[in-house]
Amino acid sequence: MASATVNIACPQCKWQPAAKAYWQCSCGCRWNTFDTVGVCPDCQHRWLDTQCLVCHTFSPHEDWYHHTGGLLGSLLSPR
Ligand SMILES: [Zn+2]
Ligand SMILES: [Zn+2]
Repeated sequence: MASATVNIACPQCKWQPAAKAYWQCSCGCRWNTFDTVGVCPDCQHRWLDTQCLVCHTFSPHEDWYHHTGGLLGSLLSPR
């Protein structure tokens, strides 16, 4: 587990997606969106909002990361 300092959880219901949770892109690709920080590996579309698979609420992708360190900050901030 390389992500020991970052908790990923739904900002609304606190659901923590398992590694086998999958999201579907409008292009039809299915993948774990947290593996790619919200970028579809197929069409490279960047999803700024991520829908919870449990409560179905859309939240900004970076709100899913509950930092205990600053590691992902540079990944998530567009330049
Ligand atoms: Zn939720
Ligand atoms: Zn796609």
